[in-house]
Amino acid sequence: MKSYVIDVQRCSIHDGPGIRTTVFLKGCPLRCKWCHNPESQSYKRQLSYNQSLCISCRACEEVCSQNVHSFVDGLHRVDYSKCTLCGKCVEACPSKALSMIGREMTPQEVFAIVKKDEIFYAQGGGGVTISGGEALTHIDFCLELLQLCKESHIHTCIETSGFAQVNQLRKVLPYVDLFLYDFKISNEPDALQFIGGTLSVINRTFNEIYTNEKAMILRCPIIPGVNETDEHFQAIEKIVAAYPDLIGVELLPYHNFGVVKGANIGCKTEEFDFPTEEQKQEWIQYFHQHGYDKVKLA
Ligand code: SF4
Ligand code: SF4
Repeated sequence: MKSYVIDVQRCSIHDGPGIRTTVFLKGCPLRCKWCHNPESQSYKRQLSYNQSLCISCRACEEVCSQNVHSFVDGLHRVDYSKCTLCGKCVEACPSKALSMIGREMTPQEVFAIVKKDEIFYAQGGGGVTISGGEALTHIDFCLELLQLCKESHIHTCIETSGFAQVNQLRKVLPYVDLFLYDFKISNEPDALQFIGGTLSVINRTFNEIYTNEKAMILRCPIIPGVNETDEHFQAIEKIVAAYPDLIGVELLPYHNFGVVKGANIGCKTEEFDFPTEEQKQEWIQYFHQHGYDKVKLA
C-alpha cells in the first residue's frame, strides 16, 4: 500500500512528546481557510514554484512541452492547470526553484527512515507521528506503518482533524499510543464555511478515541476573525471539563506560513490577522481563571 508522502521530518520536537520523526502524508478532505500546509490538501503530486529562488534562466520553458512556463515582461508565469507532472522542468532547474511535492512511498520505505532515529526515541521519550493532510484517510498506509513501529516498540502518535470514518479509525486504534486532536470550530455553520466539513463526523471520531481510553492532547488553532470568540472558548472549556482524561490542551496561535506555500502551488490561501502577544496571554488567562491550568500555548 503506497501513499504520497510530502516529507519525513526527522528530529521534530513539535509533534508530540520527545524527539520524533514526523511523517506528512499528502491528502486531506477538509479545506480549512487558514491551512498552514496547503500542499497537503490534494491527494495528488503537485508542481511547486518558489519565485524567490528563481534566477530567470528560462531552462524550464525550454524543456516543458506543455507551455506551463512563460515569461511576460520578465515575469515568470506558471500555468499549473496544464502541467502533466512529468518532472522535466524540475530536473532542468539549476536553482531548485521548482520541485515536485509528493513522493510515492510504501510504509516499509518510511519505516526504514524511522529506524535510523530509534536511538533518539529511547533517550527522549519520542517516537513517530503521522500527520498530514489527514492521516486517517490514508488508513491502510497508517496501519502498516504503525504495526511496524509497534513491533519495534516505538511510541506512535497520529495527528488528526477527526474528519474520518469511525470504521477506518478502529483499524488503527490498537496501534496508536497518542492522538493529537485538532479542535478547530465549534458550530456547524462555521464548520461548513471555514473548514468545509461537518461537525457530526468530527465529534464521532473524538468520542471513539476517548471512549477507547486512548491518550489524547487537544490542539486548538486560534484564528482571529474566525474562532477567537467567547462561544468557541466556552466550547473548549466544556470539552476540558467533560473529558478529564485529556492529557493536555494546546492553543495554537494563527500564523500565515500557508500563504506563500499556497502561492507556490498556484492556490490562493486566505490571510487573517496575527494575534498579538497580549491577545495570546488573554487566551491563557481566560482558561486559568476558569480553573483549567492544563491549557497552554503551543
Ligand atoms: S512537470 Fe513537466 S509538464 Fe509540468 S511544468 Fe514541468 S516540464 Fe512542464
Ligand atoms: S529553470 Fe528554475 S531558475 Fe530557471 S527560470 Fe525556470 S524556475 Fe527559474
